[in-house]
Amino acid sequence: MTDKIKVKTTLVEMDGDEMTRVMWKMVKDKLLLPYLDMDIDYYDLHIKHRDDTDDQVTVDAARAIMKYGVGVKCATITPNEDRVKEYNLKKAWKSPNGTIRAMLDGTVFRKPILVSNIKPNVSSWKKPIIIGRHAYGDVYNNFEMPIPEAGKLEVVFTPRDGGKKRKTLVHEFPSPGIIQINHNLEKSVRDFARACFTYALSEKIDLWFSTKDTISKVYDAGFREIFQREFEENWKEKFAASGIEYFFTLIDDAVARVMKSEGGMLWALKNYDGDVMSDMVASACGSLAMMTSVLVSPHGWFEYEAAHGTVQKHYYKHLKGEETSSNSMALIFAWTGGLRKRGEMDGTPEVVRFADKLEEAAVATVEGGTMTGDLLALAEKKPSNKKVNTEGFIDAIAAELHKKLHG
Ligand code: NAP
Ligand code: MG
Repeated sequence: MTDKIKVKTTLVEMDGDEMTRVMWKMVKDKLLLPYLDMDIDYYDLHIKHRDDTDDQVTVDAARAIMKYGVGVKCATITPNEDRVKEYNLKKAWKSPNGTIRAMLDGTVFRKPILVSNIKPNVSSWKKPIIIGRHAYGDVYNNFEMPIPEAGKLEVVFTPRDGGKKRKTLVHEFPSPGIIQINHNLEKSVRDFARACFTYALSEKIDLWFSTKDTISKVYDAGFREIFQREFEENWKEKFAASGIEYFFTLIDDAVARVMKSEGGMLWALKNYDGDVMSDMVASACGSLAMMTSVLVSPHGWFEYEAAHGTVQKHYYKHLKGEETSSNSMALIFAWTGGLRKRGEMDGTPEVVRFADKLEEAAVATVEGGTMTGDLLALAEKKPSNKKVNTEGFIDAIAAELHKKLHG
């Protein structure tokens, strides 16, 4: 056995719940610990431990990411009434992802893992399309009201520091109707833009941004202007040096172009657009188990995870002793994403190389026909295809990784 690869700076690890917790441990034991010498700052976000600590553990984990820069997270239960009963919790704690995102000011980017034997439904897509969704404003923080009868709708803006009030007629209703008022904050849009530029530069891919600025000449055009200013002031030279581009276009045009593109770009979208488009891209790429997710903060902190949840149904089968065929791809890519970023920040190319090799091994395993049930249903039919169980899949990747590292 050769010496282990040293990961220079501490990596923040957040453990999770149910089936993903089971897989998380297998991934660590079989794919990481045999090869890596890591200093890990471990936070157990198991639902019971969050409950025992009154969720302090989640806050501590977020602080650790702020301290060290990179974290990897397993999927966690967001408790609802059923979970409060199931785990006898003090209360329905907030989503850990929400808590961490709020503390890091982050934007979530989702990237599908592509394998050659599962074709995206859009035949031109050769490289992953990454969606960056703004997480504030639009209809998610709106004001709505029914208008019961004919009349005038006016808005009044009152400056906090006692300046002059401004009153504007919104609409003269001839008959009953409905209204919706959206708002956004310059700071939130700028932080979103910064996270998008940070991510595109970190992955060395083009950034596309699109809004309906031709119709919405203040709101959507405001987004465009903030992105443009941020680009000119802070990113233009860095992008040129990396050979990547920032490209703004009308959302209709972007949709048409994306459908004919090869992929391989970051597509930044307003909150509502991102909600809709991310489901479209995910569904065209196959399985939820093949979608990775990274939270990028404008302060340069990164948190990697799988986009899927704790795979509750598989866990109940597992508890009954039944065989499961759960897919650990996105969990593995959470680790490799975190390790690669750690290696880049630390200037340790051997860590980056290990992350590359592990991803190659995972992809090669599926492309070689060994896969879990969710993928078997999507893959090109071949006699060599073989369905394996949860642990068998990780073992197959381990064998492939061993070959790649030791010939
Ligand atoms: P889920 O865990 O994503 O699973 C939904 C279904 O998708 C599964 O039943 C399974 O389908 C399939 N699936 C997802 N991941 C898979 C994998 N790795 N391998 C194979 N199949 C996979 O969503 P959920 O069951 O609605 O949520 C369970 C818990 O996860 C909830 O408590 C929720 O709060 C939490 N959650 C956490 C996160 C997070 O931490 N980021 C995100 C979402 C949800 P089949 O049953 O058809 O095989
Ligand atoms: Mg959605």
